[in-house]
Amino acid sequence: MDHIENDDQFHGLRVNKGIGEQPTVNPYLNSFKKYKRKTYSASEYVEGILKGNISILGQAVTLVESSKPEHQVIAQEVIEKCLPYTGNSIRIGITGVPGAGKSTSIDSFGMHILKGNNKLAVLAIDPSSEVTKGSILGDKTRMERLSTEANAFIRPSPSAGSLGGVARKTRETIILCEAAGFNRIIVETVGVGQSETAVHSMVDFFLLIQLAGTGDELQGIKRGIMEMADGIIINKADGTNIEKAKLAQSHFQNALHLFPLPDSGWSPKVLTYSGYYDIGVDEVLNMIDEYIDFVKKSGYFDHRRNSQSRYWMYETINEKLKNNFYNNLKVQQGLKVYEQDVLNSRLSSFAAASKVLDIYFKDL
Ligand code: GDP
Repeated sequence: MDHIENDDQFHGLRVNKGIGEQPTVNPYLNSFKKYKRKTYSASEYVEGILKGNISILGQAVTLVESSKPEHQVIAQEVIEKCLPYTGNSIRIGITGVPGAGKSTSIDSFGMHILKGNNKLAVLAIDPSSEVTKGSILGDKTRMERLSTEANAFIRPSPSAGSLGGVARKTRETIILCEAAGFNRIIVETVGVGQSETAVHSMVDFFLLIQLAGTGDELQGIKRGIMEMADGIIINKADGTNIEKAKLAQSHFQNALHLFPLPDSGWSPKVLTYSGYYDIGVDEVLNMIDEYIDFVKKSGYFDHRRNSQSRYWMYETINEKLKNNFYNNLKVQQGLKVYEQDVLNSRLSSFAAASKVLDIYFKDL
């Protein structure tokens, strides 16, 4: 019924009809349901991936990253079927402390790489999520130019699980990307914990991004990382920073002489560049090409990939055994009891460990 004050006897503003309470659920929800993401069979995933369908590739990667057993079954089948189509890429690992310029550099390297008619996948291993449940690599807008390119596939780090688990998922994602026709793969990580070792074990070329410091650049760099690097690049060699960068270059070059020549037989180079201003980027990419030529001729390229495959076989066994062990209910109960015995000095650590292991093996 119309409001009484809307009668002609009243003058002035009119009173509008109110609206009833809105439903809390969108009444059109049902019509959206048909747009729900389709689930595919393993062969459909493989078919889509081999055709280079990015949306299906992305969904397959999500399955790889999932910890649900039913997802893992399909994911493993997809990986298995994609394997024959993989291996034809150059895999580059990039590491550097936060702020070294990894995103900026990858954006710039990536744009150069795409000019050569390549398809580039950028993956990340971010171990910070394990400890802090936050992310060092993922929380900002990254690689702005690259992220709009059709031939680039950018995927943030898988988040859940141990470093070993995250790294295995990334390695499996490399397989899917290669099957989808990506012939350049960049795996990025921050210089935290053991993540460099994980990345090193899945790439052909390992690149360390450094900044020119105050003259004692070499301080604070883990020796192991220098030894792993196939190339060291000093970023932000622009403006007033050029001289400092050149100085850092010679420091690093001298420091590298102190290490024995790596198994590859390649002497790691040190270059300066500016990812932001796009100076010296071609030289960095040429260095990588030169290395790949060198190790392909010497046979080291295949040798490294074979040892990586072996490494990942054992890593996967170790990880699955460990999960199986700690997920065992009897083991969990035993751990509680024997841990107390150790803390109260009733049992030695070794005796307690043996007892828990016995529980596990008897339960098999
Ligand atoms: P990330 O944390 O290693 O990924 O580093 P970012 O790529 O986010 O870069 C950190 C900061 O350094 C940003 O403010 C960039 O703009 C800046 N930066 C990156 N590359 C360069 C460079 O080549 N020259 C200069 N002057 N600044 C740079």
